[in-house]
Order: sequence, then structure tokens, then C-alpha cells
Amino acid sequence: MADRLLLSDDEWKKRLSPEEYRVLRQHGTESPGVGCFLGTKDPGTYVCAACGNPLFKSGEKFESGTGWPSFTSPLTPDAVSEHHDRSYGMVRTEVRCARCDGHLGHVFPDGPPPTGLRYCINSVSMKHVPEGAPISLVTA
Ligand code: FE
Repeated sequence: MADRLLLSDDEWKKRLSPEEYRVLRQHGTESPGVGCFLGTKDPGTYVCAACGNPLFKSGEKFESGTGWPSFTSPLTPDAVSEHHDRSYGMVRTEVRCARCDGHLGHVFPDGPPPTGLRYCINSVSMKHVPEGAPISLVTA
């Protein structure tokens, strides 16, 4: 993974849209069924909307029926970091971008083969880079 991108809260507020800031920096959740990548099948790479870190490939995306884009695995094991989340009276595993710590979503153990995992990710936390197009990281 590239060097981490750790910015102040004020800096993130300047760089992100209000909805991106709410989800990525304040651990928000977009409403189910409305995310822009819900039905997307275009080949390519999903990168972090905040820092450009490559997170997921289109080939690992599947229809979960949950209302959020879902993947069976991250692009590489170190693309994301996982954290215990006990908010809202639930025990869940939060998934963050490993480069900028931006909140992406959660991972659940009820996914399809081959991993049996379901990475349930907010559309607003990602951008789609079409297959063959260059991926450029956001820098400080
Ligand atoms: Fe990031």
C-alpha cells in the first residue's frame, strides 16, 4: 500500500462533499437502495472516495439484496483495515480504508463462496475507475 494519508478533520471537511464527510469521517451510513454503485457491473476498480486507495475489484462484487454494494473480498488483504464496532447495540466488524482510515462499511460472515464474507460498503465511500484507466492516489 502507498504511504498513508492522514489529514485533520478540518482538511477532510474541505476536501469531501457533506455526504462523503458524514459517511467517511463520521462513520455514517447511506440509505439502503439508493447508492450510485448498487447495480453497477462495469469492469474496473473501486477506489476510496477520499484518498484514491484501490479497495475492491468489480469481479468480487455481487448482488446481496441488502441495498448496499457488496463484495466477497478486498483487492488485497492490506487495502482495508477491520475494527470492532459495538455501536447501536450490535457487534459488527467495521471496514475502513487502510490508507486514510475513512469509514467504508462493515463485513459480515454471511457472504457467498469463495470467502463466505460480505463486505457491505457505502457507495459514497468509493469511486469507480474503469478497467484500463489509470488509478491516481490523492496526496496531501
Ligand atoms: Fe482512503
